[in-house]
Amino acid sequence: MAKRDYYEILGVSRNAQNDELKKAYRRLARQYHPDVNEDSDATERFKEISEAYEVLSDDQKRAAYDRFGHAGVNNGGAGFSGGFESDFGSVSDIFEEFFGGAFGGGRRRQRRGPRRGADLRYDLEISFEEAMFGTEKEIEFRRPETCDRCNGGGAEPGTSPIPCTTCNGSGEVRRVQQSILGSFVNVTTCTTCKGSGELIAEPCTQCHGRKQMQQTVTKTVKVPAGVDSETQIRLTGEGAPGDNGGPPGNLFVILHVKKHEFFERRGDDIFLDLQINVAQAALGDELMIPTIDGQETLTIPPGTQAGKIFRMRGKGVPRLDRSGRGAQMGRGDQHVIVQVAIPRNLTEHQEELFGKLALTLGKEVVPQREKGFFSQIKNVFGDIFGA
Ligand SMILES: [Zn+2]
Ligand SMILES: [Zn+2]
Repeated sequence: MAKRDYYEILGVSRNAQNDELKKAYRRLARQYHPDVNEDSDATERFKEISEAYEVLSDDQKRAAYDRFGHAGVNNGGAGFSGGFESDFGSVSDIFEEFFGGAFGGGRRRQRRGPRRGADLRYDLEISFEEAMFGTEKEIEFRRPETCDRCNGGGAEPGTSPIPCTTCNGSGEVRRVQQSILGSFVNVTTCTTCKGSGELIAEPCTQCHGRKQMQQTVTKTVKVPAGVDSETQIRLTGEGAPGDNGGPPGNLFVILHVKKHEFFERRGDDIFLDLQINVAQAALGDELMIPTIDGQETLTIPPGTQAGKIFRMRGKGVPRLDRSGRGAQMGRGDQHVIVQVAIPRNLTEHQEELFGKLALTLGKEVVPQREKGFFSQIKNVFGDIFGA
């Protein structure tokens, strides 16, 4: 069978640039790699694609191919040294350059170097007041700790690990595989020792060779003034211990502030609904108002309308000092929203007074006694029912 044109195989034009070649090769190799494509001719196609790319991505070989065609690269002389059949290694190298050994024959081994420990999370509920003024809380949580019997080695004290018998201590297993493209070496992480190269002959009796143990830990968390729900406090190095001498992770304490009975927080300000009666609204009054600092005087001027908002400066939330220097950052305000309560169920005397008041306001008011539902219906439909 005649060899197909390399440009045609990659589906690119004869003046395609390097990055275009690369793209085409990448796409086709992904599609036809025998590890992912089970079609019977996938291997042939993959080989064809790799050969085409190998030649066209090399300036010298490409020039030779352009001048002499397949003869220019296959017959030794002009460029292509060595037959392709015995040269799977180079194809595999190109392939790995692109895909990092993602399929099968990967030869990059994950090194077992120091690894940072995992971060941990602790959800802490605090009261509204604690969020306002800060607090110190003791928290108790479980986290893995390096086993203190074997110091994290996993071996019973007095014994030492032996070289892994599967990989002879190298941590990786090499296998020569035969394929239609020739033989190649497949390197994988040793599954017996998981790449460490060592086996523990006598596991530590405390952690059973796991090197870490879940322990209950108590820590004090300093909650600064002005925090809000979802504020995170980081306790550096209080997470899970690292692997192979890596640093520990951090502990993140996530705050959840409980709702207050009557204060509502919005940013650095506090809102409070205040009910006054019609007399207070009309005549004014001096009232004791709850604030997070305790009772404070608030003057309601005569003629205060429903919905009026009074601002009590500096009575809001302490501004969170994110610098951690404890500097005074000031405070927000408290806003008091006035609701005017209209009295219900007046006594006869009160009714009389309101009646007089109404007259002075220029209108005679006929009090309407609250009635049951049925008698209201009867009033409306009285004529129809002939009542
Ligand atoms: Zn091993
Ligand atoms: Zn141990």
